[in-house]
Formats: sequence, C-alpha cells, structure tokens
Amino acid sequence: MTRQKGNRTEGREVTDGHHLHNEVLARADYRLTYDDSLEHLKGMNNIRWSTRSVFGRFECPQCLRCKPWTWNSGKICVQIWFSRNPDRYMTRIHSQKCRRCESYTEPQLDTGSYATKLVDAFDLWKGLRDRRESVDDFHPTPPHDTDRCHGCLEGVCEQVTLRRRH
Ligand SMILES: [Zn+2]
Ligand SMILES: [Zn+2]
Repeated sequence: MTRQKGNRTEGREVTDGHHLHNEVLARADYRLTYDDSLEHLKGMNNIRWSTRSVFGRFECPQCLRCKPWTWNSGKICVQIWFSRNPDRYMTRIHSQKCRRCESYTEPQLDTGSYATKLVDAFDLWKGLRDRRESVDDFHPTPPHDTDRCHGCLEGVCEQVTLRRRH
C-alpha cells in the first residue's frame, strides 16, 4: 500500500479500495470495473451492499518513529458496493486505532484474502453460486477491538452486524 507523504500526522479513517483493483480482477472470471460513484447511489435497488471482514496487518506510522508498533487483524472492515450491467464495484476499507497512541492507522490488507472475499460476494450476487457459509480463511488473531475499529464506530462492521443477528 502506498503511503502519502506530507504533513499528515494521522492516518485516514477510511481508504478507497481502487489501488487493489488488479488483485480483484485477477481472481474474477468476468469483466469488472471499479466505480467510486456507487456509494452515492446507495438505496437504488440495483446496488448491492455488504460488509466483509478481511485479514491484514497494521503498522502505526506515529509510533514507528520511536518503536515499531504493529498488529494483525482478521477482522478489518471492508464495505462493498456492487452493481450489474456492466459489473462494477467499489470498496471502503476501515482503519483501526493504534492501542498505543489512539490514532487511526490504515491497514495493509492481505490482498489474497481481500480479493477472494470480494469475488466470492460478486459470484453470489451474479447468481454464479448458491448462498453458503463465507469462505474459510481463519487466521488466529486477538478478539476484535470494537472500540478502535472505525467500521464498528460507523455501525457497519461485520462484527457488529453478526452480534446483532444473534
Ligand atoms: Zn501508534
Ligand atoms: Zn469492527
């Protein structure tokens, strides 16, 4: 993931998934474009919307100056929008707060995990497969820190919706 230089002192709370588009394309058997206008079309009935938890790693740029501070998460909140004819999608990737300095840190997603979960969702929405349990990519990580997850803060994180369902 590219890091922006400049006078930014805090990580962004949300990142756009455009830079990972090639990873997704490589796993899809159909044409697919990235369209960052979909988020604003939310509510129209041809737009599918969902959330997935993706595995990845964080490295706080604030704490890096003195001491490296990194953590893994199997539950990085990724929002997905999808529309058909032509097939297009966009994602928003939610940051998590560093435990040490409480500033938002952008994740370095496991691109394989990210692309597989997206294509899995698109396949379902395109009617290419039946609904089943989500893809198994279990990674042993600590319990989800909902207080520091931006997706949980917005109430869109899969961890929040799972808990609501039970
Ligand atoms: Zn930090
Ligand atoms: Zn969360």
